[in-house]
Amino acid sequence: MSKTIVIALGGNALQKDGFPATAEAQLDIVKSTASYIADIIEEGNKVVITHGNGPQIGRILLASEYAAKITPPMPLDVCGAMSQGYIGYHIQQALGNTLLKRGIKKPVVTVITQVVVDKNDSAFENPTKPIGPFYSEAEARDLSKEKGYIVKEDAGRGWRRVVASPEPVRIVEIEAIKMLLKAGAIVIALGGGGIPVTEDKNGMLSGTAAVIDKDLGAEKLAEEINADTLLILTAVDKVAINYKQNNQRNLDMMTTLEAESYMAEGHFAPGSMLPKIKAAVRFANSNSNRKAIISSLHLAEKALAGLDGTTIIGALPSGNTYLSPSFPDSKRDIKQLNIAK
Ligand code: ADP
Ligand code: MG
Repeated sequence: MSKTIVIALGGNALQKDGFPATAEAQLDIVKSTASYIADIIEEGNKVVITHGNGPQIGRILLASEYAAKITPPMPLDVCGAMSQGYIGYHIQQALGNTLLKRGIKKPVVTVITQVVVDKNDSAFENPTKPIGPFYSEAEARDLSKEKGYIVKEDAGRGWRRVVASPEPVRIVEIEAIKMLLKAGAIVIALGGGGIPVTEDKNGMLSGTAAVIDKDLGAEKLAEEINADTLLILTAVDKVAINYKQNNQRNLDMMTTLEAESYMAEGHFAPGSMLPKIKAAVRFANSNSNRKAIISSLHLAEKALAGLDGTTIIGALPSGNTYLSPSFPDSKRDIKQLNIAK
């Protein structure tokens, strides 16, 4: 049965440890990523792809700053747009070639995506996301004076610029994305969480130096296009509690209520697994027919079939948990079976 799926690709779908950070190496990795995505498309699903951009935007920024004496450096929002274009191009080409080989005729298209954030988001009061090169303390103070950068000492490694990580409020290009999807295209959008922009009272947009979490961006996208599944693909096969401890337990599934309590117990590392769980909980809670899955690329198809990965399903307002129809055999102790049809 055809489903609408938002696939959020993690850093390892684009680059791998031990491989050079070149464009050529990235394209090679994207080619293998594309074959897994093509499998999902081949099953008849409508797919929107989103992806991280941390290392890519970092390097674009680095190159730009180091070349500042030769050519004007680009602001962060422009670097974000560049990274969306660069990564989108690789996915378009690799996935386009793969689909052609398999005889699937579907356009693959990247939408440079802006995402409105709230100027008054509390994240702006305490920027936490380090970006760009390391500086000496003196350089950092100069930049702060000259350009208004907020700089912080980064764990003994030197000084870095930090920016805010505000919530995604509205996807500016959402109607275009929906039209493309309706017309049968495979859409790549919201790369790196989207380019953060603020909106004035007349609706005029302007870029802002911030970073939107890509998992929360993907969640917003999934809600807006009314997706059935938010599939977050990363470097682990399943979400675990007591991660990397002797008593680590990998989870096949959890309700959003369970996820909330695991979050409160600190099982998920901030900046890596935590935003994925937050995104999964938000999505699964937004509508009882929606579920989120966290797994790795090579298990994507199995995970979609409910045979691997970690599935996160919603909780009813009453507080009762329910099982998704794809888990009829679960032996878990569920208070009330209340299957959403
Ligand atoms: P991505 O680029 O896919 O966003 P991240 O590194 O940000 O990747 O997040 C995924 C990583 O989160 C995993 O590779 C894993 O090392 C880490 N992680 C932290 N806590 C957990 C947990 N409880 N269960 C599984 N993985 C976890
Ligand atoms: Mg991440």
